[in-house]
Parts: sequence; structure tokens; C-alpha cells
Amino acid sequence: MAKRKVTLIPGDGIGQECTDATRKIIDATGVQIEWEVRYAGESVFKQGVASGVPRETMDSIKETRLVLKGPLGTPIGYGEKSANVTLRKLYETYANIRPVREFPGVTTPYSGRGIDLVVVRENVEDLYAGIEYMQTPGVAETLKLISRKGSEKIIRMAFEFARSEGRKKVHVASKANIMKFSEGMMKRTLEDVAKEYPDIQSEHIIVDNCAHQLVKKPEQFDVICMTNMNGDILSDLTSALVGGLGFAPSANLGNEVAIFEAVHGSAPKYAGKNVINPTAVLLSGVAMLRYIGEFEAASKIENAVMVTLESGCITRDILGDAKGVPTTRYAETIISNLGKQSQKWKVREYKPIKMPQVRPVQDFVVAKTRKTVGVDVFVESADGPEKMGKAIEQAVAGSPLNLKMIDSRGTKVYPPTGAITDNTDAFRCRFFMKDAASEMTDAQCFDLIGRVAGKYKWTHIEKLHEFDGKPAYTKAQGED
Ligand code: NAP
Repeated sequence: MAKRKVTLIPGDGIGQECTDATRKIIDATGVQIEWEVRYAGESVFKQGVASGVPRETMDSIKETRLVLKGPLGTPIGYGEKSANVTLRKLYETYANIRPVREFPGVTTPYSGRGIDLVVVRENVEDLYAGIEYMQTPGVAETLKLISRKGSEKIIRMAFEFARSEGRKKVHVASKANIMKFSEGMMKRTLEDVAKEYPDIQSEHIIVDNCAHQLVKKPEQFDVICMTNMNGDILSDLTSALVGGLGFAPSANLGNEVAIFEAVHGSAPKYAGKNVINPTAVLLSGVAMLRYIGEFEAASKIENAVMVTLESGCITRDILGDAKGVPTTRYAETIISNLGKQSQKWKVREYKPIKMPQVRPVQDFVVAKTRKTVGVDVFVESADGPEKMGKAIEQAVAGSPLNLKMIDSRGTKVYPPTGAITDNTDAFRCRFFMKDAASEMTDAQCFDLIGRVAGKYKWTHIEKLHEFDGKPAYTKAQGED
């Protein structure tokens, strides 16, 4: 049988030790893997490759489509972006799967409660796209872009993943109550997609309550699906419930490429000391084996990890300096336990995961009717709202558009409402067509911007649309 090629990126800091242990244990199962060692991260930044991911590594991934990766350090002071994020984004690995489960011998305040859950985090959209601007020298902006297609892919992935692991329930946790369009997209998409998975229960939960419930009663959760930043934060919380980062594996899945890595970083202070816990990288390797259909080898390793931990052979992150065993001894013990099974700690029955296929062609949500009803013009001004409001009203007199209101960071400040706001120098001026039946033309929009620009610096605009008769913009706080 031909060997399955895998790109192995040892990574920085403790990465080499974690991946050495993982590779030895996987090889000891007899699975036929050809490891192609390639580099990324700190050593590559130092060679002057700004992305931290050199051509040889990209060529290897293009061929293997499968990566097992140690953590990459994100140096401060040199290097442009995180090579980790670059790798995830270059290959559209849109789903970040972060399972946590209770392990024998790893005592936490939650021990005995049977925590066994998976965070399915959207991995390429949301605030982490890093589209940022300074609106004024003192006011920063980050765009939070959430697409229907991105939401559908990640929610379908959550259901498919639940099926592959025999799980029963998918929660979507979002902040749809506040960000009705962006976070709300997750809730609306769940309501549509859930109908196609009648065998899996589903429920929407507000993300802050989800955090509260995770600390209070984590065993109620099975699969939790979230947008990028919420998933990043809550998956660190879930790691801590079962003993910390040494036990937190992850998979980055896309339709073309899959990257398996620990949640943790390169922990430089432990590099080369033979003390770290390689379980997170090892269990990422186990997830990789299941992804390529090597279910028997995967369960063999998972069972051996259980037996090893149950016997008290555990690294110093859990047992401390005096009792913790060295990394190499831990790995050797796991190898010697391959083929053994714990009576008490069971491994799940797994089925192959069916990667969701969300129409691969360009696919847009099309509104039956659309109308541009006005425009928000964002301006920089040192004047207070009262003075600015009057000046802008005067400037736009004679235009087909009316100034409806001005807000400061989302709260209406003009016409005055009696609200007590601490204003900045960044404001949003909202204009609607005087004749509500007519649509704003681009010429009218440009004329309006010219009139505003005569008084204040404008920074950007957002057109106000109605799609299918419904406003495609939200109101400011205090706007009627
Ligand atoms: P970190 O490397 O995850 O380490 C934080 C702490 O977690 C360590 O000091 C240690 O705790 C514990 N720890 C992490 N992995 C462990 C393991 N395998 N065994 C035992 N203990 C472990 O986080 P960081 O110090 O914030 O980041 C270091 C570098 O890694 C940064 O450059 C960061 O950007 C990068 N990073 C990379 C990734 C990635 O590759 N995906 C992810 C996160 C961070 P104690 O100190 O309590 O012993």
C-alpha cells in the first residue's frame, strides 16, 4: 500500500519535542505515513520571509493537502503577521475544531462530571480578518464581516461533525441579540440548516450565557458552534475545564487542506527541557488519522493515552516538578501501551466525516427587490453635535436628502435627546431621501458628500439599502 504523505512542520519552541513524540507514536501503530518535514514560523521570519511560510512549505502542502504542525511563535518586533493565521487563511481552512474531554489522572474541579464536548469555531471570517482603519487619529475601527455562505459552511460542519462522532446536540452560540445582522446570520442560518439534520437536536444560545453555562454545567454541551472571536475565547475556557493547554488538540478543516495542531503555543521557556506535555499535538495527530480514515490506529493511540494517564504516568504540567515524567518517557509509555484498553475510560465510535459541500460555485444571496434610501456619512469634527448638526443642515439645504440624525459611537447625539454621551471627534451623519418613495442616485450621493465636505472632513460612507422591503441597516441607540 502506498504511504500517505503528510507535511510535518515541527514548529518553534517546544514544537520539536511535541512533534517528535507524536511522530514516533503514530509510526509505532504501523500506519503507513511518509512525513515530509517542512518549516514555517520564527526560523523562516529570521531568513527574511515576511509571511513566515516559505515556498517549499507551500509546495509540499499543495501536494499533500495534509499538515501536522507544531506551534509557531509569533515574534514581536520582526515578521509581519502570525504564520499560524497565514496558514489557516491561505488554505481556507474555515473550520477550527477544538474537542475537550475529561482524562484519567488529570484532576480538575470538574473531574467526574464527564465533560466531552467540541467547539466548532469559524476560522476565516469575523473580526480576525483584521480589516482595520483609524477613522480619526483617536478612533479605531475593525470590520466584522460575516457571510451567509461562511455561516452555512461552519454550521453544516458542526452538524456533520456531530454525526461523525455520534453526538446528539449542536448549540450555536452567538451575540445575535446585539449584532442582529452579523452574529444574527449564525442564528438565522442555524434555523434553516437544522431542518436538514433531524437526527441531531439543535439550539441557539446567547454567547455570554454560554460562557456562564460552560463554567456552571459544562456537561450539558456536546457541540458548540461559534463565529471566530467568540470561538477563540470560549475554546480556551473549555481547554481549562479539562486540565489546560497540554490536553487541547485542534483541527483546521477546509475543503482542500486540513491542518492539525495543538491549541497551545511554542512555550519557549520549556523548549529543549524534555518536560512538556505532548498530548495536545498527539491528539491532533489522532484527529488527523481519523480524517484520513485510519480509525483503528487512531483509537489504539487514544486508548493507550487513557491507559498511560490512568497508570499515573503524567507530565509535570499536571503532577508538578517532583512527580511529572519527562516527555520522552511519557511517549515511550504510550507506545508500550498500544493495544491496551482501559476498563473505565472509553473511546467513542467514529464514522468518517462528510465534509459539507456548500455549492462550490460563486453563490450570492439575491434580493427580489432593493432600494437605496439614504446614506451614512462618517465625519471627523472637533465641533460638538449641536454646532455640527446646524452647520450640516445648512449645508444640505436644497439637497433631496435630509439630515435625520448624528451619532457618536452608535448613540444619537443630534437632534439632542437628553442622553449623556462622552463624544469623540468621529461622528456618523445619517441622511434619508426627503421623498421616501424615491431612490437615492449616485449623483445625489456625490452632491451630498460635496456639501458635507465643505464643512467637515468626511472619512467614509455607507449606503442605506432596503432589501426585499426591509431596512438593511440598524438604528442608532436613541434613534426613532
Ligand atoms: P503558550 O506557548 O501556549 O504557553 C503558555 C503556557 O501554557 C506555558 O507557559 C505553559 O504554562 C502552558 N503550556 C502550553 N503548552 C504546554 C505543553 N505542551 N505542556 C505543558 N505546558 C504547556 O502561550 P504563549 O506563551 O502566550 O505563546 C508563546 C508563543 O506561541 C507566542 O509567540 C505565540 O504567538 C505563539 N502561539 C502559537 C500558537 C500556534 O502555533 N497555533 C498558538 C498560541 C500561541 P505554565 O507556564 O503554567 O507552565
